[in-house]
Amino acid sequence: MVANRGAIASAKTRSQEIELTETLTSPLALGSKDPQNLAILREFADFWKVPYTLDQLQDGDQLFFTAGLADGAVSPEGYPVIISPVGIEEAKSVARQFGLEVFKEEALLHLPVSPGTFVSLKTVLNQFSGSRLKPVLKDGSTTILHQILGSRVHVLSTDLVSDYYQLIYGRLDENPSWKFRILAKAPFSYDTIPSCIRNRIFRTKKAIAQFREEMLGPVECLRAIFLASLVVASGKTIPRIGFWRRGKTYTLAVSHDVETQVGLEDGASRLVEVERELNIRSTWNIPSDRYPLSSQLLTYLAKTGEVGAHDTKHDGRLFFARYKDKVERLTQCRERLEILAKSEVRGFRSPLLQHSREILDAVGKAGYKFDSSVPSWEALSPTSLKPHGVGTIFPFSISGIVEVPVSLPQDHQLIRVGGLGVAQAVDRLIDVSRWVKGVGGVCVLLAHPDYEFGLEGGPEEYHRLLQSFRSDPSCDIVTLGELADWWANREQSQINVTEGKASLQQINSRERADRLELEFVTAYGSEGFKVERFADSNVIEPSRGSEK
Ligand SMILES: [Zn+2]
Repeated sequence: MVANRGAIASAKTRSQEIELTETLTSPLALGSKDPQNLAILREFADFWKVPYTLDQLQDGDQLFFTAGLADGAVSPEGYPVIISPVGIEEAKSVARQFGLEVFKEEALLHLPVSPGTFVSLKTVLNQFSGSRLKPVLKDGSTTILHQILGSRVHVLSTDLVSDYYQLIYGRLDENPSWKFRILAKAPFSYDTIPSCIRNRIFRTKKAIAQFREEMLGPVECLRAIFLASLVVASGKTIPRIGFWRRGKTYTLAVSHDVETQVGLEDGASRLVEVERELNIRSTWNIPSDRYPLSSQLLTYLAKTGEVGAHDTKHDGRLFFARYKDKVERLTQCRERLEILAKSEVRGFRSPLLQHSREILDAVGKAGYKFDSSVPSWEALSPTSLKPHGVGTIFPFSISGIVEVPVSLPQDHQLIRVGGLGVAQAVDRLIDVSRWVKGVGGVCVLLAHPDYEFGLEGGPEEYHRLLQSFRSDPSCDIVTLGELADWWANREQSQINVTEGKASLQQINSRERADRLELEFVTAYGSEGFKVERFADSNVIEPSRGSEK
């Protein structure tokens, strides 16, 4: 990890936290001339669940966040403004407007989010310079947010909109390598090629087992910049909804892709035994037509945890099928598994973690409620034969379903491709999970009963791995389906700010939604966000400066 370069909240208060006493009294206003850019800004606000509006500004003190130069953003007095220029041309217009210079600057940003935990992003900044600028949010010598002196206007050097779009949407469509195309389109199924040859084709050197924050969660860095900017530019406390149920800092979901009949009939029982001992329920993703399935076993797995779909034949061809055929194939898969497992099959996991916008659309169309096929980051994607991932460790909604990224490196990559021993792989997984905990995200574990964890000697190490989560009271452990439901519920909930009161508005049943938590971000400094929670109430009357 890069050494702590200490992000600061203001040039004057280096390495101190600014104390904020007032809470946002009206919702954040979002604006952009471009509807697509505005949609991305909404995704930032929706992620944190910061109350926002797209309406005209009403309150003279209302914070206005705009992608590019929206009307009214140049007012030198009045409400506080944050401008995030989209693209270099827009950055130049902003520079002209305020008499600044702008240049491109490559940067590896590294920002604290909680004590000892950093998020990181490799990017190109639209960096501004000029005598009227005062840095108010910095990473070492790199300024992230400038204030224009004599005004309440702030300018971001990070292009939040373009970077976010490129990371989340740009990476959903992975381009298969020619090697993969040949393998997948061969007249025989790609998995009849001996796995030693496949692994050699898919093998690269050391990089496999290296997981750095800028690979696993660059999107988390963008989100942190968004929230930190709100805190710094408004000088107020920002209300948000906590990610997980009260008292929990992060979440674990255990999932298994069952590749072979031996894995189902042999390996699975070994893993189930470990999980039962620790009172953990998991998700079993099963191909519907690859090997003979015992209804008894599937019913059992659906009872102890849940059964998810893992394609029909698992032959790598789903990616290349026409849309109509994708939907048909995915529907058949779900229906057959539902009959065998005697329970609803709500989730899909794509073979080889293949993914594309079209597959996600088809998954939704075929009646699934969630998908978990996109890695946060993999050193070597079996499809593109390159490092690949969507760059976030949080679920997100897309194509009408919830996507739960596979956030932890899967056993196959660590052990069979990366060459780690089982114990080393467990150490690495625990390492990565500590970072996820610091960020407050989701650990999605993918362990195959067919591979080392399900073989002789594996269950002991598997136990050590799961025990590290079970023994941590701040970790919530749920199935993928429960996680998707939780996230969908949080997405539908919101904070209302009216008459100086922040209150949590819940759409779903009180019982579930009551466990959501209203939080207040009171400061941003070298230890990340300072967050306050109020245990007993979900309606908070924010303190006002005058009442202090
Ligand atoms: Zn598989």
